[in-house]
Amino acid sequence: MSSSIDRLKQKFYDLDALESAMSLMGWDQQTFMPEGGNGDRAEHLGALSRLHHEMLTSDETGKLIDEAGRDASTDVEKALVRVTKREFDQSTKLPAKLVEERSILSAKAHEEWVRARKENDFKSFAPTLERMFEIARESAEHLGYTNHIYDALVDLYEEGATHEQCKQMFESLKAPSIELIRRTKEEGTPTDNSFLTGGYSVEAQKALTEKLVQKLGFDFHRGRQDTAPHPFCGGTSRNDIRLTTRFLDDVKSAIFASAHEAGHGMYEQGSPQEFTRTPIAGGVSLGIHESQSLLWENLVARSKPFWDIHIDDFNAAFPHAGNVSAETFYKAINQVQPSLIRVEADEVTYNMHVLTRFEIESDILEGKLAVRDLPDAWNAKYEEYLGITPPSDTNGCLQDVHWSGGMVGYFPTYTMGKLLSYQIWEAMSSEIGDPYQYVAEGDFETIRSWLEEKIYSQGKLYPPKELVMRVTGKPMSHEDFIKGVTKKCEAVYGLASAQPA
Ligand code: ZN
Repeated sequence: MSSSIDRLKQKFYDLDALESAMSLMGWDQQTFMPEGGNGDRAEHLGALSRLHHEMLTSDETGKLIDEAGRDASTDVEKALVRVTKREFDQSTKLPAKLVEERSILSAKAHEEWVRARKENDFKSFAPTLERMFEIARESAEHLGYTNHIYDALVDLYEEGATHEQCKQMFESLKAPSIELIRRTKEEGTPTDNSFLTGGYSVEAQKALTEKLVQKLGFDFHRGRQDTAPHPFCGGTSRNDIRLTTRFLDDVKSAIFASAHEAGHGMYEQGSPQEFTRTPIAGGVSLGIHESQSLLWENLVARSKPFWDIHIDDFNAAFPHAGNVSAETFYKAINQVQPSLIRVEADEVTYNMHVLTRFEIESDILEGKLAVRDLPDAWNAKYEEYLGITPPSDTNGCLQDVHWSGGMVGYFPTYTMGKLLSYQIWEAMSSEIGDPYQYVAEGDFETIRSWLEEKIYSQGKLYPPKELVMRVTGKPMSHEDFIKGVTKKCEAVYGLASAQPA
């Protein structure tokens, strides 16, 4: 007779097959599906999601987890039990009907959101969004929490995170970020990035981004890159990863969306083959996942050494740009400028965008803010934190896909990723020396393989907070991030260093 661990694995192989089908259908929905397919796709996803929920929450699965829990002896087996139990507990607390409604509603809401964003029409989208927040609230009540309703939701994306921790994280970032934004504006030498917009052919952008992504270490034999309105990374296993990017008038959008999604993709591709199809494969949490995408996007691809060796590729792809120097390019892509769109924001102002969303979703969950008043609250916060007011909801509260998908409690993981990317980079520096010596030589493999050893290969063996301790020797903190972006701003803006050399 096979062992309880084997039978548990077998059960989750089946669940993984359903998850892969849903993931691919979701990817297709945002890349190639004809518009007319929306209605049926929503029904299909709803049905698969219901089947998945039934299989996951069955008595048989519960018994298998208990049995395996008694038999688990190795670290891998214990992790398998820990992860499946967490998934089982979260799902058994949610009624199947609620899960199905959320799935059907999110497909409908996605379609409505696309239209509302296009037509700057928040009002017609508001009732659907309101129902989505109600579902989030109901889910939180079913999941349970001790201190704040938000705790139940943020924990779904970042195991162990709480409302209080998020609040403190943003609090620690606010003052130094605002000061740095002020210094660049008042004391810095202005940078010019106007040349990044206009006349950049889509074909050349596609070719360049594919080349760069491949150089960073993304394996195209086990992945591909397509286009989607809102770039994301999906796929079915370490051997089939789907990156998406988008080609806009502003050429840096595609370059950094591609580098970012490739960072997510390399994390997934680096998951051990022996974990494949099991629940401990792939990224452990959204915050850790985001740290990996941001590390490649910001610390590698936005660095001066990176462009010292790639500016020729850029100039060859876009002759009309007029032979840009690495120095000019580096300054242009690191401009600090309060702006409207989160995904286009620089590293320093970015967290203020996330803070806005965190406060708004907290207020809606607490019943302090009605969904219909969301645009006013949004605009007031942009004025307060960034000194700008969105001219339309399209460029304001309708810009993100998340809430239409029912992803409430998700946003703070972006800022966690920012902080962790710098913290992990520092840890890497103390082990292999300054990583920029490798970047300068085009040796990304030394960096990738360090990350693979420390993070990718760990899959979900340890909960995120424990992984951070193991890799960096300390809990998540804002210090390395603030130190790193300050140093970068001083270089880009010619500011006098505030720190002793
Ligand atoms: Zn990301």
